[in-house]
Amino acid sequence: MSDDRNVIIIGSGPAGYTAAIYTARANLKPLMFEGYQPGGQLMLTTEVENFPGFRHGIQGPDLMAEMRAQCERFGTEIFSQDVERVDFSSRPFRIWAEGKEFRAATVIVATGAKARLLGVPGESRLMGHGMSTCATCDGAFFRNKVIAVAGGGDSAMEEANFLTRFGSKVLLIHRRESFRASKIMLDRARANPKVEFVLNAAIEEVLGDDKVTGVRVKDTITGATRILATDALFVAIGHTPTTAFLGGVLTLDENGYLVTHHGAKTNIPGVFACGDCQDHVYRQAITAAASGCMAAIDAERWLEANAGH
Ligand code: NAP
Repeated sequence: MSDDRNVIIIGSGPAGYTAAIYTARANLKPLMFEGYQPGGQLMLTTEVENFPGFRHGIQGPDLMAEMRAQCERFGTEIFSQDVERVDFSSRPFRIWAEGKEFRAATVIVATGAKARLLGVPGESRLMGHGMSTCATCDGAFFRNKVIAVAGGGDSAMEEANFLTRFGSKVLLIHRRESFRASKIMLDRARANPKVEFVLNAAIEEVLGDDKVTGVRVKDTITGATRILATDALFVAIGHTPTTAFLGGVLTLDENGYLVTHHGAKTNIPGVFACGDCQDHVYRQAITAAASGCMAAIDAERWLEANAGH
């Protein structure tokens, strides 16, 4: 037995929740698969100061709880399951979760992206307490402090330059002495007097009891270890969009991000995408929420235009 829906939303960050609020208020009775770990990347942050409407800031998990409650208020049905498999090759679209098949006239993919992590001791424990993966979100908490950035790509250069607005000094820690970063981004970081390069240095541990106090790094050439004092560590070693389960019919770019056009449309009519699974540029809660709104309106219009087909 399958289960037929107007709209199925896969994913539950700001993009998915916003898509749910809009489609629920449009009376489309959306079904959302929020996943076993709902709420997206904001569940890993502490205070959010840049989401409009909260002048005193709001904790990331509290913001997501509010958004979830707002979805439910308008009748979104939420399943706390991961989608295992999809078939978008014909309509109605088919989705499987916990072995059960669901069918949908439209699908909104809002599965987000995960910041890659170093995988060293202390990193997860101190996340939100000096550990961060987003300089735009958390840089302002470290005014006149020492800030470290891990990575050697464009993201790391961009984050390092940006963080010099706040920090007294920014340590750019990279495991090699050559860079993936483009020359222009690297030159900009090199020219910035507040950025200090720590090269051939692999971070082995993030130190601190209840907040970051330093990192232990190993020299990749001599093998010697040393401790660098810092108040924060921003990991900027790339993101991985959650798109692998989509099965190959949706167009992805070379980094695995969904390609959208004219709002939230994918290459499959009736399948829409929003949030960080299709955005590697802005990656903000507010831009994700905005794109969730676009996906919902696109889905609603698509259903109107294709009713009965
Ligand atoms: P990236 O280019 O893949 O660079 C990742 C960096 O992290 C590399 O230096 C890599 O080191 C390092 N790294 C990866 N895993 C690591 C680990 N486990 N431990 C320590 N270091 C690790 O990723 P990105 O910088 O996020 O850039 C992604 C894409 O977005 C690129 O195409 C980039 O050009 C683009 N981007 C553009 C801009 C811009 O133009 N404004 C800004 C940001 C990003 P190795 O080199 O040793 O592997």
